Amino acid sequence: MIKLEGITKSFGSLQVLKGIDLEINKGEIVSIVGPSGAGKTTLLQIMGTLDEPDAGRVEIDGTVVSRMKEKELSAFRNHRIGFVFQFHQLLPEFTALENVMIPAFIARVPSKEARMHAMEVLDFMGMTDRASHKPNELSGGEKQRVAVARALINNPAVILADEPSGSLDTHNKEELHQLFFELRERLGQTFVIVTHDEALSKITDRTIHIVDGVIKV
Ligand code: ADP
Repeated sequence: MIKLEGITKSFGSLQVLKGIDLEINKGEIVSIVGPSGAGKTTLLQIMGTLDEPDAGRVEIDGTVVSRMKEKELSAFRNHRIGFVFQFHQLLPEFTALENVMIPAFIARVPSKEARMHAMEVLDFMGMTDRASHKPNELSGGEKQRVAVARALINNPAVILADEPSGSLDTHNKEELHQLFFELRERLGQTFVIVTHDEALSKITDRTIHIVDGVIKV
């Protein structure tokens, strides 16, 4: 599902990624761990086509994205990849339902269809009764569920998550981790999760350690 070959990336004189080769299979749940500043977020951004490597090849779901032009790339990203961040990044003036619908709007899905699909995803999360709530009327765990629902609305092949449970308490963390596994069972998505949370990295199918810009074996 994801194939990286020879990925390097520098910011100015700082080489953050020093040659990453990595393959992640369809339906795998993989955690990426390592010290702060090791390059984990940079790697995730490159997998998500939000950043470009200086060198190397990025293939996602059979498509070599490292050769695509930005316009084509943004359509690919919006359809094939879902993102979940540490801080949910929901728009405060929109309801949960409207927030979930945003990527569908960007993908030009007709609004009736987008609304129906958003309700289905919220329903799957047990969030039907929160659909018309604004983010400030939701708990931390609920907000993060809405963020996951938003990542899922276009039925992406891959979900990339950067410290998704970083701002949650233990109970909500466990629920969110459980949700990833349920989604994989039900929808077959591939998950790549940057995390400091050992409770999560212990239960993922595979843990990739990044230290100083390389994968530690
Ligand atoms: P991690 O996620 O492992 O903590 P990051 O990938 O966020 O590490 O960052 C790795 C290094 O690259 C850090 O030293 C960080 O300051 C630097 N860095 C990340 N993004 C940028 C950027 N856009 N511009 C300059 N330096 C950056």
